[in-house]
This record gives sequence, C-alpha cells and structure tokens, in this order.
Amino acid sequence: MPNMSPNKTPMPEQDPKIRSRNFDEVSTGYTEEMALNEAARCLNCKNPQCVTGCPVNIQIPDFISQIVKGDYEGAYKVITKSSSLPAVCGRVCPQETQCESKCVRGIKTESVGIGRLERFVADYHMNNYTGKIEKPESNGHKVAVIGAGPSGLTCAGSLAKKGYSVTVFEAFHTAGGVLMYGIPEFRLPKAIVQKEIETLKELGVEILTDMVMGKVMSIDELFDDGYEAVFVGTGAGLPNFMNMEGEGLIGVYSANEFLTRINLMKAYKDEYDTPIIRPKNVAVVGGGNVAMDAARSALRLGAENVYIVYRRSEEEMPARNEEIHHAKEEGVQLRLLNNPVRVVGDENGMVTGLECVEMELGEPDASGRRRPVAKEGSNFTLDVDAVIIAIGNAPNPLIRSTTPGLEANKKGCIVVDEATMKTTKEGVYAGGDAVTGAATVIKAMGAGRQAAESIDEYIMNK
Ligand SMILES: Cc1cc2nc3c(=O)[nH]c(=O)nc-3n(C[C@H](O)[C@H](O)[C@H](O)COP(=O)(O)OP(=O)(O)OC[C@H]3O[C@@H](n4cnc5c(N)ncnc54)[C@H](O)[C@@H]3O)c2cc1C
Repeated sequence: MPNMSPNKTPMPEQDPKIRSRNFDEVSTGYTEEMALNEAARCLNCKNPQCVTGCPVNIQIPDFISQIVKGDYEGAYKVITKSSSLPAVCGRVCPQETQCESKCVRGIKTESVGIGRLERFVADYHMNNYTGKIEKPESNGHKVAVIGAGPSGLTCAGSLAKKGYSVTVFEAFHTAGGVLMYGIPEFRLPKAIVQKEIETLKELGVEILTDMVMGKVMSIDELFDDGYEAVFVGTGAGLPNFMNMEGEGLIGVYSANEFLTRINLMKAYKDEYDTPIIRPKNVAVVGGGNVAMDAARSALRLGAENVYIVYRRSEEEMPARNEEIHHAKEEGVQLRLLNNPVRVVGDENGMVTGLECVEMELGEPDASGRRRPVAKEGSNFTLDVDAVIIAIGNAPNPLIRSTTPGLEANKKGCIVVDEATMKTTKEGVYAGGDAVTGAATVIKAMGAGRQAAESIDEYIMNK
C-alpha cells in the first residue's frame, strides 16, 4: 500500500543558529527508515511524468521501487545508467522545477521527495559498497576533454565506459569545476565530489590538472598529439560586473572570487592562511543561487550583517526557494527593490558603503518579469565593508580565441548543433555552461552525455 501522507518525509537539518556559524552540511540526509517511508509515497505511475522532467531521464519510479524492496544497490544501478554524479545531483539539482514538478502527487499535495531519495541511494552506495569497478576493455581510440566540471566529467565517464582512452585537461589544481570552487561545502561537501571523481578514475579516466588549455596547448595541438576528438566543457567562469563607480575598491569581490577563496583555497579552515577580507557588514548584489551561496558563506566567515541587494521583489528572485528559505532562516537580510549605484570608499581605497536607490516594479520586460524602475531621490547608503557582485557569469574567451574555426555567439557561448553537441570545427564537441551560459549541473551532465554519444558515432564512422 502506498503511503498517502500529503507531505514529504522531512529532511533532518542542522539548527539555523548553529549552522550559520559552521561550514558543515545543512541537511544531514534521510535515515533508512525515512527513505523507506518516502519511497512508499511513489505511486509507480504507468506513464511516469517525473522521468520527462529529468534532463537525463533517470528511470525514477524504477529506482524508487528498488528502495521499497530494500535493494539500495539495485536503486543505485538504475540511477547510474543515466547519471554519473548521483550524490551531487541528489543535493544540488533544482528538483522542484524538474522531476518533482511533474510528479502526480504534487498536483494536490507535496510531490515525492525524489532528490532526497536519490541522495539517500548515492550516500548508501558510497558508505557501503566495497566492490571494485571493472575497467572496460580498451577500444584503442583517444579523446581529450577540456574542463573537469560536470559536463566534462560526464562526457569523460561515458566515453571511458565505451572503452575510449580519455584525458581530461583541467585549468585548476583540482577537478570538479563549480562543484569544487563555487558551491559551498555546507551544500555540497567536497569529499563527496572527490569520491565521485575517484570512481571515474577507476574507470580509467586520466585527469591532468594545472593545464590551462589555450595557453599550455591548443586544440589543434591536441589533434596533432593523436586525440581523435575533443570535448570542450570549460564552463562560464567569467564574472559580470555592474560597471558602477567604485567597483575597483578594496573589498569588492565577484562572487566567483569570494567563493573560490573560501572553497578551493579553504579560507573557512583555521589552518589555512588564505588571503580574504572577513567582512563585518557585507552587501551581496544579485538574487540567484550564487548570491545566496555568497551571502551564506559570508555569515559563516563571521559577518554580523549580510544583506542581499536585489532590484526586484522576492517573487522574481531566480534562486531556488529552498536556498532563499535557508538564507533567511540563517539571518541573511533581503534588501528587495533596491539597486546599487555606487560603491563608496575611504581615502585608503577601502569599501565603506554601497549607495543604492529604491525601485518599484513597472510593466513586464522581455523576460516576462516586471521591469524595476528607480524612484527618484530615494538614494541611501548601506554601511558595509565588502561588496560581492553576483549578477551572472559569461564563458571565458580563451578557448574560442585560440581555436580557429570554433564559432561563438554574441554572448561568447560556443555554437553547437543541439542534437549532437557538434561545434563548427571538425571533431570538436562542446556542452555545459560554455554553450548555454550559466545553467545547472544536470543540464551540463546531459550535454556531456549527449556529446559522448556523438563523439563515439563520429570516431566509429571515420
Ligand atoms: C556558486 C554557484 C552555485 C551554483 N549552484 C547550483 C545548484 O545548486 N544547482 C545547480 O544545478 N547548478 C548550480 N550552479 C550552476 C552549475 O554549477 C553549473 O551550471 C555547472 O557546474 C556547469 O558545468 P560545466 O561543466 O559546464 O562547467 P564548470 O562547472 O564551470 O566547469 C568548467 C571547468 O573547466 C575548467 N576550465 C575553464 N577554462 C579552461 C581551460 N582553458 N583549460 C582547462 N580547463 C578549463 C574550469 O576550471 C572548470 O573546472 C551553481 C553555480 C555557481 C557558480
């Protein structure tokens, strides 16, 4: 008999007052009993809409029915047929707008907690599985992957499973992309990302770090070296700024830099001497997930007041509801309908404030959201000693500027055929944020998997 409870089995979480001062994971995960309880809410629909809502089409009712039987390894096998990073996706996918938004239970009550169950299965496997991964037999072909984020790693894993010899070239000293340098430890523990990467290495994927491609080697040189195809998964790591007065002052960070110093350079650990300003009062400009991550990280570094300065209302905020809810619970203060116009500094070039103007919402613009309009004479200054700009990122131009024949659009995104992920250069495929601009982990993974299929077809038919 299904469990007809209208509500999801709650996820245990650290108390907001305690967690806002530590970097440990906020949600602590389902116990076996909770997972069985939640899995029993799935109606195992004949025509499961949840699967169509998943960008990589995980067979969701199948993995949930394995949980109901208590076969958690069986559930893991079902998920990993479609997703190579289940512990990551179970934590950071926006399920509420994807699989869970299509769940029939969600029409009248709360949808099944698909993400929570995925996380349970992946964690169970990590903690209990002792078997060795079998390295597939080599097919004698070599492929290069540039960028070790979710798109590159997924492409590499999918090709390795088919017997390709895959080398991943990563610019940073650690693989993982945004999973390592962007998303904070309290949402996605880095040890989990590294364990997922170890699994890929066991499959035979070689990962070379500190390799800024386009500088140390070009794509054409990779072909000269015997690679038969190249996948570009270099992400969108170039931060946008407001271009307002004072953005060059000491204490202004892009969210990328601030989060990289905390995550990759471990500023949150006492034993690391990472150069970073530990602000007392900080304004984070933007309303997306990146802004929430920066604000919540600033609190955990010890800030007393953390403001999110956003020019529209809470309804228009692009961040996940869960992230906004967690940020508010922890004490982040939302300054809605406020737009920054100038960073204020002192004679030493240090930030002392952020001048803002109040806004009101007018008619909807091209995005369908109501356009914010400044209220004349409403300027005021927030007293802050740091300003973090989180208004989006664009792809880095290095690869496209060093690769003749590789076309990009006006926004700097690499142009691909969407069905195959083939670029305008023979043998070169691309996917993830480098193609779409800033998007999601699961979409990047979907693109990596699609590109692997196309690369396989290309090499086999050559
Ligand atoms: C702070 C933050 C929070 C986010 N939160 C979420 C979330 O909760 N859920 C979600 O689904 N998505 C989230 N996202 C978005 C998500 O992380 C990205 O969409 C996803 O990581 C894109 O994957 P990717 O492989 O295309 O690129 P990336 O993850 O950016 O990886 C690209 C990799 O390529 C490397 N690289 C770049 N240039 C070169 C070069 N020239 N040579 C070699 N290597 C290179 C980079 O160092 C990087 O490791 C978040 C993003 C940020 C910044």
